[in-house]
Amino acid sequence: MFVLLLGAPGSGKGTQGKIVAERLGLPKITTGDILRAAVRAETPLGLQAKKYMDDGKLVPDAVILSLIKEELAKPEAKEGAVFDGFPRTAAQAELVDTTLGERGQRLSKVLLLDVPEEELLQRLTARAAQENRSDDTPEAIRTRLQVYQRDTAPLVAHYAQRGIVHRVPGTGTIEEIATEIQRIVGR
Ligand code: AMP
Repeated sequence: MFVLLLGAPGSGKGTQGKIVAERLGLPKITTGDILRAAVRAETPLGLQAKKYMDDGKLVPDAVILSLIKEELAKPEAKEGAVFDGFPRTAAQAELVDTTLGERGQRLSKVLLLDVPEEELLQRLTARAAQENRSDDTPEAIRTRLQVYQRDTAPLVAHYAQRGIVHRVPGTGTIEEIATEIQRIVGR
């Protein structure tokens, strides 16, 4: 089963993705983590991505599409995976659709974590103090929320057409949200 966690920065995709991936026994593929590791290791990918990430902008599709292809081709992602942080643009969604389609597979469920904007701002600001991420400055946070609305939120309509979007209120406790996701995923 392929499951996508969709939601704004700070909506809890990472936390809930980890819980649902463990429960389903599937790998979680997180482009943000892969990119942050590449930045730390100063690989060519990391060097290309860093400036965009620090500014809160999306790393260009020209760079990300090959990364996604590589991740989907890994043996552990053959039967299913939980996607966290991608697809984030129409071109990325298209790549995921075609790659899975060529394998006779498809995304089964899109879990849309719904959190009001003020709460997202509060969470991201609190996280900035804890995690020391270089993109948790007030300006980068603002940009990331705008970029989500502009580039990623339209994917909801794309998947809603297929009837696979499940809206999950993202404001309860971690356990409550995880239980709701379990109900939707059925396991
Ligand atoms: P995240 O941890 O998912 O919020 O990602 C942190 C940053 O990594 C984003 O602000 C982007 O700069 C970059 N990033 C992560 N995933 C993607 C993606 N699928 N497409 C483009 N940029 C991404």
